[in-house]
Amino acid sequence: AIPAWKPYSYRLDSDPPEYPQGCRVVVPVRRGWKVGLCCGVRHGDSQEDLAAAREFLDAAPALPTDLWDLGMWMSSYYMCPPGIALHSMLPGGFRPSLAGTLEPLPRLATHPIADIPGYVRPVVALLMKGAVPRRTLERVLGSSAEVHRCAGWLLDHNLVAWGVEVSREPSGRTTMFAELVADRPETKVSQSGARILEALQAAGGRSVVSQLLTEARASRAALTTLKRSGHVRLDRIVDASPSLRDGATSPLSLTPAQERAVGVLATAVLSRSFQAFLLHGVTGSGKTEVYLAASSVALERGLSAVCLVPEIALTAQMVARFKGRFGGRVVLVHSRLSPGERHDAWARATAPGTLVIGPRSAIFAPVTNLGLVIVDEEHDPSYKQGRDPRYHGRDVAIMRAHRAGCTVVLGSATPSLETYHHCLSGKYTRLDLPERVERWAMPAVSIVDMRVEPRTEGPLIFSALLRSKLHETVGRGDQALILLNRRGYARSVQCADCGFIPACPDCDVSLTFHRQSRRHLCHYCDYAEPAFETCPGCGGHRLGYGSVGTERVEDELRAILPDVGILRMDRDTTRSRGAHVRIIDAMEREDVHVLVGTQMIAKGLDLPRVTLVGVVNADTPLQFPDFRAGERAFQLLAQVAGRAGRSAAGGEVVVQSYLVDYPAILCAARHDFEAFAREELLQRREAGYPPFSHMVRIEVRCRTLPPLESHAEAIAHGLRATRRGSGGRFLGPAPPLLPRVGGMHRRHLLVFHQSRQSLHSWVRDGLAVAGEHPGTRMIVDVDPLETV
Ligand code: ADP
Ligand code: ZN
Repeated sequence: AIPAWKPYSYRLDSDPPEYPQGCRVVVPVRRGWKVGLCCGVRHGDSQEDLAAAREFLDAAPALPTDLWDLGMWMSSYYMCPPGIALHSMLPGGFRPSLAGTLEPLPRLATHPIADIPGYVRPVVALLMKGAVPRRTLERVLGSSAEVHRCAGWLLDHNLVAWGVEVSREPSGRTTMFAELVADRPETKVSQSGARILEALQAAGGRSVVSQLLTEARASRAALTTLKRSGHVRLDRIVDASPSLRDGATSPLSLTPAQERAVGVLATAVLSRSFQAFLLHGVTGSGKTEVYLAASSVALERGLSAVCLVPEIALTAQMVARFKGRFGGRVVLVHSRLSPGERHDAWARATAPGTLVIGPRSAIFAPVTNLGLVIVDEEHDPSYKQGRDPRYHGRDVAIMRAHRAGCTVVLGSATPSLETYHHCLSGKYTRLDLPERVERWAMPAVSIVDMRVEPRTEGPLIFSALLRSKLHETVGRGDQALILLNRRGYARSVQCADCGFIPACPDCDVSLTFHRQSRRHLCHYCDYAEPAFETCPGCGGHRLGYGSVGTERVEDELRAILPDVGILRMDRDTTRSRGAHVRIIDAMEREDVHVLVGTQMIAKGLDLPRVTLVGVVNADTPLQFPDFRAGERAFQLLAQVAGRAGRSAAGGEVVVQSYLVDYPAILCAARHDFEAFAREELLQRREAGYPPFSHMVRIEVRCRTLPPLESHAEAIAHGLRATRRGSGGRFLGPAPPLLPRVGGMHRRHLLVFHQSRQSLHSWVRDGLAVAGEHPGTRMIVDVDPLETV
């Protein structure tokens, strides 16, 4: 994708497809070829000066009109060039790889060879057999400069043209896996080989090859060498993504609250007009069953539905329920599919009466006859895309439903304050499921004040209460979840003799110690270095470990529960495809009794034998100086607490905290969303934060400070010069919480306005006045979730 605001024009030498808009076409851009999306065809323009487009890749639009329009809306709303917005809607399988070729023109055959300089003749010899890939030329001639020189002469004499070779659409459903060989030889391996082995080890011994190589920053050749030396095995697996048991399930008899919600939704779906609902149901109230019933109303009439889930990896159970109910009409799309699988999924999505389920990008599935859009856990921050276009999947879902004229349901036990505010103002209709199904009780929550907990030797990880509850739970044969929102072993390492703390060379943060992979890792840019046992500064052996992470909690658990099956679920243990499903499956089959993990374990898990949830430190989200810190802390606690007691056996939650009188923690302990929202909305109104204003964050990045600061100042100047009406303000430029990430210094500005329209035009005009600043990078984030 090219960050262009205006379309480019090309000459067409052959007939375009019947509906050209949204079809992919190969076009020359600068010296190479790109796959572009056709905006339209004009007739009769003078075309002499235009370069020729190559070939259309589609006979029917890859982006049908409704999606094209949605993309143009995204481009304008999120202030992102249309080229990027539209391209981001197509799944990876729609981006074929292009390779340059040098093609002989007919005249070359008759050109007198004596006229051709000696250095060009080897190329001519090659061209006599037809087009030659650029790669081959480079190999034969030794350098791209030499290719340039030879091709230059031939191009100047109109004897050749640059062409392009389009690799076929990837197809099939196979994925290449690498696996550690159990009895590998002791032979020495190269440095990149060692990195691969390490990454494989960290991934639990098995990983998708493409992922593995990115992680280990290694080449395919290094992997092949390891295979030859007998360190790893490679295998190609057909449709390897494991899934949970998804045997057919029939509809449950609904609770009265579910019945009411389904009734309202069914009427809305059948009315075929835009209506937005918040399904506000406490954890365990059976929201999924409502989605299923509403979907079946749509599907039975040949209407399609799209269901967004936060991160597909974490919602395997939800997917299994949809598949169990609707079988082959369910199309699953997610980021871990191979390009070929995605291509298939996109093709299947167009059948009438299909239900597409997936993370945020599933909202771009080309379903026809859209009748229902569901956004489960609508408050979840993973719906926001962290790169351009920085769209929020929930908000795009609402816009798509609006344009399609259909029903949209946002579901959550802990709605975002934006959504809740829309309910209060009457924009969305609220449907409540105030109680758990089967009269299961909400779990009892105890808050442990860690400030007064007796000190122990080493770090204080478990309070006496949590320890005894763990023993009781496991003793009964029940299961427990232990949450700590920090991965790794310790947030930092420090030499007790000289005070040295390893830090990231590119970011302003200390490195996290990962014991299993024996590395110090930067959680912002993934920089890694081998861990040390002796301080590289003074040679000391006494190392102190900072705040604990999940790896250390796991160790501690193994120490206090020696004979119990324990697993850990965080980004480190779920890198390989299917790892999360294997973990959930082990919990479902009760092979494992304690699961420790980051926020991953707070989302969606529905395990009836979990009767205890422990929160090691409830304060982690509150330590961020962000206006949503309280909301995040509340959501995390309420959600993880909601994993407990999903059966008649009931459940309990132990929350450890040093900030025991914070409203977020107190309200979550009482399962009181209303009280939390009331308090929080009051504060937001006073401070003028969303939902009482709209917000854009502008960030500038640069390797050096002077251009960075002058660009940031220019933006501030632009905003001052174009300020409009009352109700607007901006903060900054200021260094964000991390002033430097990945070697780039950063400055940002936060712009607020009560009117969304004024905000957007103000930012647009302000940036126009600030002008272009080559050498710096600018990020415009509309409705940012991260504001520090
Ligand atoms: P939520 O998403 O609201 O937290 P789920 O949809 O995961 O809740 O439902 C919780 C559990 O209740 C699931 O195991 C589900 O099968 C069960 N359940 C849902 N509806 C009913 C019902 N009407 N009767 C009995 N069990 C139900
Ligand atoms: Zn870093």
